[in-house]
Amino acid sequence: MRLDLHTHTTCSDGTLTPAELVAAANAGGLDAVAVTDHDTAAGVAAARAAAAAVGGPRVVAGTELTCSLGGAEVHLLGYGIAPGHAAIAAFAARGAALRVERMAAMIGRLNRLGIRVTVAEVEVPADCAAVGRPHLARALVKRGTVGNFQDAFTRFLADGGSAWVPSRGPDLAEGIAAIRAAGGFAVWAHPALDDTRRFAAARAMGLEGVETLRPRVEPSISLALEQAARDAGLLCTGGSDWHGAPPALGAWYVTERHVGDLLERLGIAA
Ligand code: AMP
Ligand code: FE
Ligand code: FE
Ligand code: ZN
Repeated sequence: MRLDLHTHTTCSDGTLTPAELVAAANAGGLDAVAVTDHDTAAGVAAARAAAAAVGGPRVVAGTELTCSLGGAEVHLLGYGIAPGHAAIAAFAARGAALRVERMAAMIGRLNRLGIRVTVAEVEVPADCAAVGRPHLARALVKRGTVGNFQDAFTRFLADGGSAWVPSRGPDLAEGIAAIRAAGGFAVWAHPALDDTRRFAAARAMGLEGVETLRPRVEPSISLALEQAARDAGLLCTGGSDWHGAPPALGAWYVTERHVGDLLERLGIAA
């Protein structure tokens, strides 16, 4: 069984609609895909409808909540949530408001750097509930400020960049509580090695897993993350954090051998 447990659609900062994501997952040979948009689960229903219409893949209901822990940003994946649950909707509403404020702050920084971009130029799809840096990067490409998407990050938007403003989400404990209230399973997304020091504290808040397997991560780092997760009593999961750019969805995947514990927890038979 081939799975990708971390993907984005136009409901946040991905480039494909939920239905297009499902088609891409089929074309890429995936048996299951988790739809994990930033701060919303709004794409899950459309992805499921599309998958039902074409006979697959299995769609895992997910989200990726932007949270704060000790002043740092932590992304929290939620799997197996009820996508329409009020706890997720409430978190999403707070997240969306914070993201709109942050976008204005980043545009203010760009303006002070002499770049005359406006909020109105940042185009978001009609179904988008979480405006983010990729939308701003695309606006900078469109107005010709930068040559391409990656340049926008290299010159202005990467973490620590001249126009970057950190995303300030609600506390990690609140994110974990929202996911659990919605019947889901909370997983620390794409941790850095340094984050392992905080796994035990997060587990005490109700965290159940860590995304230890990702593309383009040194095997030695994946192993160290896996060891730290197991030491803290957390399960290991994996996903590609696909946003629409090449390589194609399905080129990288995990199997039940890697994420069997999570599949069992979600009631998915391998
Ligand atoms: P945001 O949620 O607004 O902080 O944006 C995060 C998204 O921006 C990530 O999911 C990536 O799609 C993209 N991103 C972040 N850092 C970089 C980078 N250095 N280069 C390219 N894309 C990036
Ligand atoms: Fe993203
Ligand atoms: Fe993330
Ligand atoms: Zn992501």
